[in-house]
Amino acid sequence: MTDVTSASALDDPAGQAGPVCVMCHHLPAAPATVYQVSGVLVYLRWNRERGPFCRDCGTALFRDATARSLSGGVWHFLSPVLVPVVLARNLAARREFTRLDEPRPHPVAAAPNHRPLVPGRPVMRRPASWLAPVLLAALVALAPLTAGPGGQRYDQVGGCVSRSTPLGRYDAVRFVSCADKHDARIEAVVPDWTGCRGHEYVTDGSRFYCITEDRPGLTPPPS
Ligand SMILES: [Zn+2]
Repeated sequence: MTDVTSASALDDPAGQAGPVCVMCHHLPAAPATVYQVSGVLVYLRWNRERGPFCRDCGTALFRDATARSLSGGVWHFLSPVLVPVVLARNLAARREFTRLDEPRPHPVAAAPNHRPLVPGRPVMRRPASWLAPVLLAALVALAPLTAGPGGQRYDQVGGCVSRSTPLGRYDAVRFVSCADKHDARIEAVVPDWTGCRGHEYVTDGSRFYCITEDRPGLTPPPS
């Protein structure tokens, strides 16, 4: 984790009202912190920008950090917790910024070239903000491949198995409805391969599925 903290807030030697923006040295400014999270699986990067910030710098930081958290933070395994926390904290910070008046340069601290940041496009008008969450939601929705329409599962007796590798082995098990194209029918589900007693079997790692070859359309050998 990293903790990127901006320079400490300036005091206000001219006796102006309140704190001064640490980014552009403009007034007025609100003491607030903007968070950003990104990560993949277990790798996590957590940034923090601590104010005070003026209205424009605060809004710019809020938009950038929030958009990046939405696009880059949802791939961490803790994202269902982390991303909402970041959103809630950043929205609270934004409330502080939107209450502020238009920034004006501090008479002493602000140099002539100091300008507030340009806020840029709102968070949800940046494609990256919603593309990643939508993609993730689609992946989650497609994950239960063993469930058919209506949530029916086929990894049980009565379901069927489809060959999913060109080599003809059941390396990657795919459970399908027996009404669909399939290669074998599940006869039993047992915790140990010995329970299949001479049947062919496939496994998904924790359970063993005893199967019988069953290819609709193939003529069974004469007995
Ligand atoms: Zn500023």
